[in-house]
Amino acid sequence: MHCPFCGHVETKVTDSRLASDGAQIRRRRECLACGERFTTFETAELVMPMVVKGDRRREPFDEAKLRAGMEKALEKRPVARAAIDAAVSHVTHKVRTQGEREIPAGAIGELVMEELRQLDEVAYVRFASVYRHFEDVEAFHEEIRKLRDARPAPAPRARKRAAPPAQMPRREQLSLLPPEPDETEKSGEDA
Ligand SMILES: [Zn+2]
Repeated sequence: MHCPFCGHVETKVTDSRLASDGAQIRRRRECLACGERFTTFETAELVMPMVVKGDRRREPFDEAKLRAGMEKALEKRPVARAAIDAAVSHVTHKVRTQGEREIPAGAIGELVMEELRQLDEVAYVRFASVYRHFEDVEAFHEEIRKLRDARPAPAPRARKRAAPPAQMPRREQLSLLPPEPDETEKSGEDA
C-alpha cells in the first residue's frame, strides 16, 4: 500500500504477526521514501449484504434481529435451542453466500419461513401472518392450505380418547349402590 505520510508507492514489511487470537494479521511497515513507520491490520472480509427494506431504505444485515424474529415466532413452542441456532445459521449462511451486495428484506423473510416450516407449523404460521401481512382471513386460510398440501401424507390420526368407560366400576359391581334406574324412565319424557 501507499505510504500514508508521503504517498510513496513502496513500503516494506518489517514485522508480521497474528493479532486478535488469530483473527487478524498485524504488519509493521516502513516507507522506503520517507522512512515513516505504520501498522496495518489484515482481516478476512466476510461482508454481509445490505438489507433493502420495503421503503427502499438500506440497513446492515443484523443476525441478532433475525434471531429475535424467529424466536418470537417460536415462543413457547416445543423446539430445541440447538435447532433454532441451526436454523439461524442456515439463513445467515444463505444470505452470505448469495454473494450479492444487497438483498431484499423479502428474500430473507422467505428463507426464514422455509426454516420455520420445517421446525414448527405454528411458528411458521405466526411468522407468515405477520410477515406477509395477511389482509384477511381468506389469505390466512390459503397459507394454511398450502402448508397442509406441502406436508407429506399425514399418519393416521391418533385421537385422544376419553378414558374408556370400562375402567370405571360398573354400578352393579358396587354392591352398596342401588341398581341404576332404567334410561327411559330417567328421561322423564311425556307420552
Ligand atoms: Zn513515506
